[in-house]
Amino acid sequence: MSEVGLKVKLLRYTPEPEKVIAMAAKLCYSAADIDELAQGIEQKDQANFLQRLMDMGHLSPVEHVSFTFGVEGVSRSLLTQITRHRIASFSVKSQRYVSQQSHGTETFNYIVPPRIKELGDEYVDKFQKQMRQIQVWYDEWIEALGNQGEKSNEDARFVLPNAAETKFVVTMNARELLHFFSLRCCNRAQWEIRNLAIEMLRQVKEIAPNLFKNAGPGCVRGKCPEGNMTCGKTKEVRETFMTL
Ligand SMILES: Cc1cc2nc3c(=O)[nH]c(=O)nc-3n(C[C@H](O)[C@H](O)[C@H](O)COP(=O)(O)OP(=O)(O)OC[C@H]3O[C@@H](n4cnc5c(N)ncnc54)[C@H](O)[C@@H]3O)c2cc1C
Repeated sequence: MSEVGLKVKLLRYTPEPEKVIAMAAKLCYSAADIDELAQGIEQKDQANFLQRLMDMGHLSPVEHVSFTFGVEGVSRSLLTQITRHRIASFSVKSQRYVSQQSHGTETFNYIVPPRIKELGDEYVDKFQKQMRQIQVWYDEWIEALGNQGEKSNEDARFVLPNAAETKFVVTMNARELLHFFSLRCCNRAQWEIRNLAIEMLRQVKEIAPNLFKNAGPGCVRGKCPEGNMTCGKTKEVRETFMTL
């Protein structure tokens, strides 16, 4: 049995991110030379400064800081969604170079959707049996394809499911992160990418609380942008993200 769950780790980020943004913005609005940019930018002034930039939609200074996360325990289904975010950079564990061949009774790692778990043990067993069957098919193809490492892996992987686990490193600048949080922290986003986005937001809020103060789905900052598709829970959603 190889069920796994979400793990997210903020690996690296631009040091003093809020100060870097303030420096970039100061360059736009003052006569300061490069050597003077860091002078007079006090921690206490950064909250107001950042808020003004956000309110004006002057977001290019926000692009100068970036955050790099390690993510594991997520499905290939999540991968197809997150890689649609084109401004982000990704490095993904390869199903070509890394074999998923079973050793003994193990299967490849996979994610069990919570709603399948809610159906009860009988259904979880059924899901796990299906994963074991897929492992058998995968191993059969590895053998049929001559057990030649990546040459066999690259075709045998065609029978692996969306549930198969992937791991990746993702880097986003703060502007892209804010956009990502707007779309993917929303109740309309699919549960797995939503859980990931919320955990990423929780971690960056600790590092840059002013920058990410109003981050989250669109309704945190104003009217729900989803129109007829709204979840109708704006009040609860706002409370959740304001206290995250
Ligand atoms: C709830 C939900 C349901 C979805 N359902 C589907 C679906 O059924 N099918 C599907 O295919 N996708 C679906 N998507 C994915 C969605 O269409 C986007 O591809 C994805 O959310 C990435 O968003 P983005 O393009 O805004 O972001 P990014 O790629 O991160 O880009 C950020 C911003 O940069 C700008 N930008 C980037 N590239 C360009 C460009 N080439 N031209 C102009 N501006 C650009 C845009 O302003 C964009 O918003 C869904 C997304 C969500 C949140």
